[in-house]
Amino acid sequence: MKCAEFETSISDYLENELDSGLRLVFEEHLLSCRECGLLLEEVRGLRELLLASEQPVPPGLVQQILDRTAVEKPWSLWLDLVRPTFAPFLNQRFGFSAALMVLYCILIVNFAVPRLSAMSFKDTPALLEEEAQGLTSQLDKTWSEIHATGQRWLARLELLKEYVYGRTTSAP
Ligand SMILES: [Zn+2]
Repeated sequence: MKCAEFETSISDYLENELDSGLRLVFEEHLLSCRECGLLLEEVRGLRELLLASEQPVPPGLVQQILDRTAVEKPWSLWLDLVRPTFAPFLNQRFGFSAALMVLYCILIVNFAVPRLSAMSFKDTPALLEEEAQGLTSQLDKTWSEIHATGQRWLARLELLKEYVYGRTTSAP
């Protein structure tokens, strides 16, 4: 018997529900494995505590506790790391700022990247200054377009926010 099998048999063992063959293997493992012995004592103590409190032990409770404390539980990236990390942020207000951030990233990629990569560079020294000025004004233009589009989207998001939460700032 492996430790995992032992753990799943503990509640049946304590309820005297293991058949004699399984009981024998269970007790053999108990003699050879110190950790499982400690676990059995913990569960037995917990069960006695629950029984002594004169409240009925909910069916499956012991098994649930075992499942939660099981050492061989497979680690899950989603359940153990991603969800507990992001769960506190997954609300509507955070959603708005996240949406705004994504929006700006999309705008910058859409406006700036194709324009900058479409520019050609001439290596004649006389043309370099002209080229640099062109680049600068192009960047200014691109940035103001990004800014203007961002402002339009910001206004729309503001309207949406108002719609969802009600007006937060008092009108003049
Ligand atoms: Zn064991």
